[in-house]
Amino acid sequence: MEKVLEVKHLKKYFPVKGLFFTKGWVKAVDDISFEIYKGETFGLVGESGCGKTTTGRTILRLIEPTAGEILFEGKNVMELKGDELKWFRRKAQIMFQDPYSSLNPRQTVFEIIMEPVRFHGIEVDDPEEFVINLLKSVGLNEMHLYRYPHEFSGGQRQRIALARIMALKPEFIVLDEPTSALDVSVQANILNTLKDLQEKHGFTYLFISHDLGVVKYMSHRMGVMYLGKLVEVGPADKIFENPLHPYTQMLLSAIPVPDPEMAKELKAKRKIVRGEPPSPINPPAGCRFHPRCPFAKDVCRKEEPPMVEVEKDHHVACWLYAKS
Ligand code: SF4
Repeated sequence: MEKVLEVKHLKKYFPVKGLFFTKGWVKAVDDISFEIYKGETFGLVGESGCGKTTTGRTILRLIEPTAGEILFEGKNVMELKGDELKWFRRKAQIMFQDPYSSLNPRQTVFEIIMEPVRFHGIEVDDPEEFVINLLKSVGLNEMHLYRYPHEFSGGQRQRIALARIMALKPEFIVLDEPTSALDVSVQANILNTLKDLQEKHGFTYLFISHDLGVVKYMSHRMGVMYLGKLVEVGPADKIFENPLHPYTQMLLSAIPVPDPEMAKELKAKRKIVRGEPPSPINPPAGCRFHPRCPFAKDVCRKEEPPMVEVEKDHHVACWLYAKS
């Protein structure tokens, strides 16, 4: 399979400013590595503040990484300049969570979509027809062409944002909680549109979400993040069937189960997430999950577990599976 994106030992630390000097660092993303293959959706999940949004933005160079390497179609993103950087900015796009603030309220839909097209110098024979076709491909139509963002619902605004992204013919799209601000019924429609577009155009997605049900529906492979670290990576169906990391098990056990029989069966296996995640400023030594983990042993408090492959393509960073 062809790799679109390779992330190697990526770190992003934010300074914590004191009165006169830097007091410490928030280790938002701390030495993570993964890859994404052409045409797949890679889901990134974890609790709020685990570093998943920072990961998505750092990959796109919306924020500069502290260390590590990002390869997009084999090119080192950190070394791109001039035309190559412009090419990357066109090929790698992001859809933000908030459909209310990602569109300029003073522009019509036509202007919103054509602005980046003009910026990137993309030649279009008939701009009106071009925009109408894009609108139709995301479930809108010509009636919406000269209307303003405030005239649309949240779901429709996300569709406009999607049409603007598609106008640039991207290869890779970071979907940063794209439906979490929407009603459940609208969410499903947008997710289905994203899937249809992927099938039709071969898009590669990084799908960031705290909602495991949505990640399961969307992702081919996925990674689970905890306090800036990737703790489990593998095919989504394997992780949902057989979660290996205690944190993943806890996250999955929190998903509501509609079938009462199944719920009863699962209750016995359920593990409660104990407490809140510790501060990312001074994360715990060893395995960062150890203060909340029911299986923590001595080594977990002292040494960071390595990422090991437990079954084909299914990796986990936990001392239950690695040799200390
Ligand atoms: Fe729990 Fe230890 Fe595994 Fe961390 S390494 S998840 S503390 S068993």
